[in-house]
Amino acid sequence: MNVYDSGKIAACLVRLGYQQTGMLEIADLVIVNTCTIRAKAEQKAFSFLGRLARLKTKKPGLIIGVGGCVAQQEGEKILRRVPQVDLVFGTQAIERLSLLIPKIEDKRCRIVDVGLMEKPDLPDAVPDRLIDDPVSAFVTIMRGCDNFCTYCVVPHVRGREASRHPDRIIKEIGDLVQSGVKEVTLLGQNVNSYGKKEGLCSFANLLSRVNSIDGLLRIRFTTSHPKDFGSDVIKAFKTYEKVCDHIHLPVQSGSDRILDRMNRKYTRALYLDKISELRDNCSAIAITSDIIVGFPGETEADFAETLDLINTIQFDGLFAFVYSDRPNAPAVHFKNKISEDEKRKRLQAVLALQENVTRMKNQALVGSVQPILVEGVSQKQSSGRCKRPLTTAQWTGRTPTNKIVNFYHTDSRQRRADIFPGKIVRTRIEEAYAHSLWGEPVGLKSTTGGLKGEESYAA
Ligand code: SAH
Ligand code: SF4
Repeated sequence: MNVYDSGKIAACLVRLGYQQTGMLEIADLVIVNTCTIRAKAEQKAFSFLGRLARLKTKKPGLIIGVGGCVAQQEGEKILRRVPQVDLVFGTQAIERLSLLIPKIEDKRCRIVDVGLMEKPDLPDAVPDRLIDDPVSAFVTIMRGCDNFCTYCVVPHVRGREASRHPDRIIKEIGDLVQSGVKEVTLLGQNVNSYGKKEGLCSFANLLSRVNSIDGLLRIRFTTSHPKDFGSDVIKAFKTYEKVCDHIHLPVQSGSDRILDRMNRKYTRALYLDKISELRDNCSAIAITSDIIVGFPGETEADFAETLDLINTIQFDGLFAFVYSDRPNAPAVHFKNKISEDEKRKRLQAVLALQENVTRMKNQALVGSVQPILVEGVSQKQSSGRCKRPLTTAQWTGRTPTNKIVNFYHTDSRQRRADIFPGKIVRTRIEEAYAHSLWGEPVGLKSTTGGLKGEESYAA
């Protein structure tokens, strides 16, 4: 979501006459778009602001802005903590940036704009944005969250849930496709409740409309909340050919007691039922999830249930986090906090368990042919074990199940014409690593060792 917002911020700055630079030292204005989901993200934001403050002592004209969730949460405290900061703008203030920045340029005043409306009018007042990735783009379909999980800061810094009108979403995706984008990821804190509050269409209906956009090849979405994840969306994986076979379905814990204390509003059994229904409907589906370890009061027995759930489900990938207290989240006041040492131990146990599962899942793909949406040239080798030379012709892309595949394609002019970002290339998987796969394009006449004479590409 921050990537999406950053694109809007950048577009606004370009309209004000700024140009993008990759060199911090020569910038006249720097905006830090922050995240506060965990304590570490907030620490990173402040450490970067420290670096900018030092830069400003050498270049007093530099304008420093802080946006995003840390800005929303801390407001004018940021001006006191980092006196070099000129502008603090909250999560609903992006649309006002084009007014705020000229004021700072003219008057050299310091501004804080962190108003949060109960019923945000989801303006598309900043309709355009700059995108870094020419192939795949994020599209925010809703903002905020009404769920109030007890560990989570999001409802406090992003405000109440509000969905964008489907016509605006379809128009935005249509424009992206016109500019060459092939894949979109629809974003919301709980996409399954899309449109319900406003009486717009359901999320499954929105998927159906996005699916019919000509020229778009792939649709992804995140995040799904298990409590609202219904059969209509489960069926969408089968019904709509562009919806990729991957779901990110955060479970957070395998213990009903902890799920209840987290206010997640589902049980372990219900989660397992959704997984079965998913796999019954779409056997190829890849399932990933989020886990929080060391939630206040999480006993050894609760944690054992989480490990058991991970073992039972065999996720394709997991994001695991140690619990951290967040401002205004009720769990701050929960008793029986878990020590940092114990949280680290539990995190390691989850990661070690999952690493084996991921490796096995990746290994099982060796020999299969996968359609890869080419994203670009890979900057680094996929694994230390891979002995292939680093070359500008090492490409990278993803399977529909969201697994990264790197592949080699020799660098001659004729061969380069076969593969380019946005192309779907069929690739035979040859090697599996912990976080990626190695493949060989099949059916490209000029490729090294590939199959000859096949149709080259399939979407
Ligand atoms: N809306 C999404 C989650 C967004 S936050 C959902 O409901 O699934 C992304 C992930 O950060 C969460 O799934 C959770 O695993 C993690 N997270 C959120 N708050 C946290 C906290 N206080 N400590 C540790 N991890 C946290
Ligand atoms: Fe946070 Fe829960 Fe909302 Fe996700 S659903 S953003 S975890 S409050």
